[in-house]
Amino acid sequence: QPELSGDFGTLMQWADAKRRLKVRTNAETPLDCRTAREFGAEGVGLCRTEHMFFDGARITAVRQMILASDEKGRRAALDKLLPEQRSDFVEIFEVMAGLPVTIRLLDPPLHEFLPHEENEFEDVARAAGIDVETLRRRAAELHEFNPMLGHRGCRLGVTYPEIYEMQARAIFEAAVAVAEKSGAAPIPEVMIPLVATRRELELMKIVVDKAAQAVFADKGRTIEYLVGTMIELPRAALRAGEIAEVGEFFSFGTNDLTQTTLGVSRDDAARFLTTYVEKGIYARDPFVSIDVEGVGELISLAAERGRATRPEIKLGICGEHGGDPASIAFCEATRLDYVSASPYRVPIARLAAAQAALKAK
Ligand code: PEP
Ligand code: MG
Repeated sequence: QPELSGDFGTLMQWADAKRRLKVRTNAETPLDCRTAREFGAEGVGLCRTEHMFFDGARITAVRQMILASDEKGRRAALDKLLPEQRSDFVEIFEVMAGLPVTIRLLDPPLHEFLPHEENEFEDVARAAGIDVETLRRRAAELHEFNPMLGHRGCRLGVTYPEIYEMQARAIFEAAVAVAEKSGAAPIPEVMIPLVATRRELELMKIVVDKAAQAVFADKGRTIEYLVGTMIELPRAALRAGEIAEVGEFFSFGTNDLTQTTLGVSRDDAARFLTTYVEKGIYARDPFVSIDVEGVGELISLAAERGRATRPEIKLGICGEHGGDPASIAFCEATRLDYVSASPYRVPIARLAAAQAALKAK
């Protein structure tokens, strides 16, 4: 593994000798994965696949899929996306060379995928063979007043399972291809977003397992993998005991968990949170450092309930807080297995994890 050099490298080695928490990265491009590995990341903790769908050449196919009126229409668009998605994962698995890679299935606020400009509608019309008027009507039907609480995360997978099926196929086909080429079998951890109930996760796990079996039968080779969930809604934290009957790992999505626990929009919070911190209502910005008494309590409770059901359950955090030293101290105290931070925060996370471990002794 590439290592940081000089005094900084030495300091990092000291830190690594002391820390218990693993440090992973939030990354969805090969470049970010490579950067994170150079900084010492021990895996990918969050690969946000929706970012891959915004890619210039693909967005028309994505829009075609979202605006399709039936499964056949969606599948036609997904067929175009499958080879591209497969090569996304091949590249990431290659860079990560056998380290665990948590791939989160699609979690878009739907409005970000809808076309707005006339030429965008025309592109989709051409690709799908549907007239612009019909597409406009369909886009209007899909309008949501509050997309962040809307048809997002696994809700999209529940209503359109073929999307997650395509992504799971792409993951397993890529994993098999890389295993055969390099000998280092990738360890995919397939993560379902915005789960609130056990049944949602169960339905999505069936889709993923089916795709895995189909690919393994087709290729004559199997790959070890896990299926788990984000815990990013208070209901999921409360029901973690039964969710762990299905999920093999939890990753705490503290961005959404903070938003939904505090009832504060993560996109608009800056306007008043500064005042809130000044007046001592919150000790720190809760979107930067875990609000230990609220969000933290939900995390501790979910960890405890998850472990009671499945003692070996893997627990991590992949919200922005995963790169924040105070939050990392909380993660150590809660005995999570890993934190996941953006590539440039990986060294800070390694140091903070060591400090937290030393303090915990
Ligand atoms: C989260 O909610 O904390 C998370 C990691 O997911 P995203 O930021 O993509 O919603
Ligand atoms: Mg989230």
